[in-house]
Amino acid sequence: MTQTTPAPATRHVPADLPDRIQHYIGGAFVDSVDGDTFDVLDPVSNETYLRAAAGKKADIDLAVAAARRAFTEGPWPRMLPRERSRVLHRVADIVESRDARLAELESFDSGLPITQALGQARRAAENFRFFADLIVAQSDDAYKVPGRQMNYVNRKPIGVAGLITPWNTPFMLESWKLGPALATGNTVVLKPAEFTPLSASLWAGIFEEAGLPAGVFNLVNGLGEDAGDALVKHPDVPLISFTGESSTGQLIFGNAAPFLKGLSMELGGKSPAVVFADADLEAAVDATIFGVFSLNGERCTAGSRILVERSVYDEFVERYAAQAKRVVVGYPNDPATEVGALVHPEHYDKVMSYIEIGKQEARLVAGGGRAEGFAQGNFVAPTVFADVAPDARIFQEEIFGPVVAITPFDSDEEALTLANGVRYGLAAYIWTNDLKRAHNFAQGVEAGMVWLNSNNVRDLRTPFGGVKASGLGHEGGYRSIDFYTDQQAVHITLGEVHNPTFGKSGEQH
Ligand code: NAD
Repeated sequence: MTQTTPAPATRHVPADLPDRIQHYIGGAFVDSVDGDTFDVLDPVSNETYLRAAAGKKADIDLAVAAARRAFTEGPWPRMLPRERSRVLHRVADIVESRDARLAELESFDSGLPITQALGQARRAAENFRFFADLIVAQSDDAYKVPGRQMNYVNRKPIGVAGLITPWNTPFMLESWKLGPALATGNTVVLKPAEFTPLSASLWAGIFEEAGLPAGVFNLVNGLGEDAGDALVKHPDVPLISFTGESSTGQLIFGNAAPFLKGLSMELGGKSPAVVFADADLEAAVDATIFGVFSLNGERCTAGSRILVERSVYDEFVERYAAQAKRVVVGYPNDPATEVGALVHPEHYDKVMSYIEIGKQEARLVAGGGRAEGFAQGNFVAPTVFADVAPDARIFQEEIFGPVVAITPFDSDEEALTLANGVRYGLAAYIWTNDLKRAHNFAQGVEAGMVWLNSNNVRDLRTPFGGVKASGLGHEGGYRSIDFYTDQQAVHITLGEVHNPTFGKSGEQH
């Protein structure tokens, strides 16, 4: 059975926890225009611990107006990159200096293990630092035709960027959008996920302290179908950067179409980890355990389908199941915890329903239900299914929890067909010591990102994004700068003007 740490008598409640969260509009904390709120639960007790302002169209209208004013009249878009960079570095410094508090709140609100929440807080700081550096090092293109013409590119912020984020690693994923959107001189309205609004509420204080002008950052809490929808449909918001489920992305794509908005979509995944017989099996087991059970399995790039070459399949499944059973499920605040509590009872029910489906579809070799020792809260035992057929729902559908499907293959061709046989295409992980196979497989696999003999280690300069139902467009490094800016081409004649001479044929001299 799954090992558990001794259960603390009560859940850990951080000191000075707020009991309400407001919006932050034009530099001030405000309630919803209609006074409405929604309940926020912690995933260990599933009790309401705070009420957050429930934004609707009227609140989004106010936030967009404030952001629009800050864009057209305020200093932010017109500041030198170096000046903006200084503010962003200060944001990074503040986030870094509060990493423990941020992690404590994030872990309490989302159920993420505290050690992993700490890593995410540090990554959030790093995202700001990275884009702060990038904008001062930025060069823009110039194209010359000697003696005739010169063309250069003016890069300009676009306006009010609408940022819509999910509940998994919320603070870090918000930083991933806030960093480049602000670095490039836009103003923003952030609509964080309704399951996890706690850490997002800290941004306002951090930005104020760092010296970001009022109105540049605005935050509206609320449900997706209310606040999120109003942001997507607001005519003064030319950009929407969205991270969330593929089905939500499809809806937003349609809703944004009449306004011809710029869209960046980071969507769902069902990423394969492909283990060939010649791989370093121990490293592959360790990486694929971490790949699906870290961050509670609530991870877009989770390697949630493991494809294993038949000659090592039985050995792999045995080792994998044994190790999965040793993964430590525990209270989110316990440093020994490897898998914490899933974010919300609704999500817990969804993951549990997939586990029941899996029991009908495949062979259960580890876990299979509520984690032992936890009578309440959203604790799921790390669950492993073997012999999963490619048409099984647990092979095809994103579960977004600590549940993995293992499937055997006999040839490289079959492995590729299995890897590509789902609607998603976010990441792929390949384990082999055959160099040619590794690169050819990477070329053939339908995934936005491939890791060869590697865990999910990100270099912030590289493109991030998915293909097929996993996304639209790429962010990461200069691609984020491209998304958040217009590139205006300026053409200049250097020599004689070569005008076509229309209307001169009948000219009288
Ligand atoms: P979700 O789609 O339910 O919600 C995401 C955000 O969209 C929330 O803020 C929500 O309020 C908002 N929203 C919902 N309906 C909306 C609407 N009609 N209009 C505007 N906004 C709306 O996703 P989730 O459950 O919060 O997050 C989990 C999903 O996110 C998973 O599918 C996961 O794979 C994906 N994800 C992808 C990446 C990536 O980079 N590709 C990263 C993290 C998470």
